[in-house]
Amino acid sequence: MTMTYGRHIGHALKDMMEKDPAFRTVAYFSMEIGIKASIPTYSGGLGVLAGDILKSNADLGVPIVGMTLLYHRGYFNQSLDDEGYQKETAVSWQPERELRLLPNQVSVYLEGREVKVRTWVHELTGLNGYPVPVYFLDTDFEGNTADDRSFTWYLYGGDQRYRLCQETILGVGGLRMLRDMGYNSLETFHLNEGHAGFLTLELLREQGYESYDKIREQIVFTTHTPVPAGHDHFHYELIDRVMPSVFSGQLRRMMPPEGVSMTELGLRFSRYVNGVSRKHTEVSRNMFNDPKIDGITNGVHPGTWTAPGFKRLYDAYAPGWQHDPGRLVQALQIPDEEIWKAHQAAKLRLVAKVLELTGQQLDADVLTIGFARRAATYKRADLLLTDVKRLLSIASGQVQFLFAGKSHPHDEGGKAMIRQIYRASQELGSTIPIVFVENYDMEIGALLTQGVDVWLNNPKRPREASGTSGMKCTLNGVLNFSVLDGWWIEGWIEDVTGWSIGPESKEAELIDYDESQDAADLYGKLEEKIIPAYYRNREKWVSMMKHTIALNGSYFNTTRVVREYCEKAYGVSFRGL
Ligand SMILES: *Cc1c(COP(=O)(O)O)cnc(C)c1O
Repeated sequence: MTMTYGRHIGHALKDMMEKDPAFRTVAYFSMEIGIKASIPTYSGGLGVLAGDILKSNADLGVPIVGMTLLYHRGYFNQSLDDEGYQKETAVSWQPERELRLLPNQVSVYLEGREVKVRTWVHELTGLNGYPVPVYFLDTDFEGNTADDRSFTWYLYGGDQRYRLCQETILGVGGLRMLRDMGYNSLETFHLNEGHAGFLTLELLREQGYESYDKIREQIVFTTHTPVPAGHDHFHYELIDRVMPSVFSGQLRRMMPPEGVSMTELGLRFSRYVNGVSRKHTEVSRNMFNDPKIDGITNGVHPGTWTAPGFKRLYDAYAPGWQHDPGRLVQALQIPDEEIWKAHQAAKLRLVAKVLELTGQQLDADVLTIGFARRAATYKRADLLLTDVKRLLSIASGQVQFLFAGKSHPHDEGGKAMIRQIYRASQELGSTIPIVFVENYDMEIGALLTQGVDVWLNNPKRPREASGTSGMKCTLNGVLNFSVLDGWWIEGWIEDVTGWSIGPESKEAELIDYDESQDAADLYGKLEEKIIPAYYRNREKWVSMMKHTIALNGSYFNTTRVVREYCEKAYGVSFRGL
């Protein structure tokens, strides 16, 4: 009796601690957070990673909260016209269906106007029921000018001014909102990329502009871009126009006279900095001339990206795998035919969806290669088409391809690449079916990374900071065929977990190299290794599937990533399982 009573008190206390803002110690800020396709506030890898990391924090019971902006018109919806030109339309969605509006309201000052900010919340629930709230800041409501309302419309839309306003709302408004909601015990602010770096200004204001060291002690910064041009940069002329003078003056004291690089701001004002793969960490140390930059290799959330059939198998052969994906080493024990059946089920689901979306019928018994990523030129979606004659001689009747990916509306090079794929798909017809699936999002991402046989990735080295879509594949026994860049350098064992394309770059710098090698290697391995293994050595193929699950799926997951952040960056312990 007493014990039961005691346990009730225990539960009530636990419940209170889990919900009470006063017990949260970490806040995770990201310009985009991708939780699911029906909350279209993400564009790609950065946002999906943020969502996966927050989900794993919930699984592990880490006292964290997420902070981002609400984008009423999302990134954009992509469709192709009948010549393969990308057309962009605004996303239309109803936040009230997915998120809950809170009564809290704060203000930020932009261009001398008071802009009111409110917030919505989506609560993630971990495997053991632990809640992690994710907040979406919003200025689109009555009381703000039409212009100010539009600040939370588009992700990565608008000009520099629009971007600066958004980043001020995220960094300054985000912290104000957290305080308004009662988060007064936060010890760590994690900046997922530099966009929320103006948080430092608000922290300084709170502390009476006393000491930079006090600010540094509270900030953790993750950098994601190995290309200097990929980093946000604002000139003081614009900053002076947009921000209140206390903030612009403060920034001048903190940063060099040329302007404010958000990455630089993150690097200078944080106690811990990390890159997102071993290679990227090396490149970042070199690029920023900072040997202290640490590395935490990215991962993906197992519960989100594993196909239902494989979930069932792992539950049977590797119980507890979602709490501890390290247990997936047991995948080697799963009988071959079970692996194959689970894979074919995922492949059939993909084939059905492709038929539904495009009217094109693919064959579930034909080797299927997937390629889906942001259509930027360095990703080289067209590498496969370098020598179409060669491709025809190798792959006719034996391979079918699925492509997906959006190009940023201003990236003409990326759009041209999409057109090239589209044209090739028409020219090659049914000899080598190439299907472009429009409007790549998390739902299509999941279908592809679960249902194809091989995942192709061939960016120019070393521009891929990490890449995570290939990691989703490893949880589903889909084999990676990739350039040695980003995470794949760490996951690749030739003929065991997948195949490489081209040599590894030994330099920690961006340099041009002979790209024709990559194309030759791509064709060579397709012809000599991949097609023969798929059609004539099923045993070897399935063995590779199992090894990719056991050796890669067990490691490249956000459960391991979050444990590393807790240990090395946050200094908090999770509640354990
Ligand atoms: C996983 C995912 C990404 C990230 O993939 P990369 O390997 O970094 O290209 C991008 N977009 C969507 C929709 C995803 O699901």
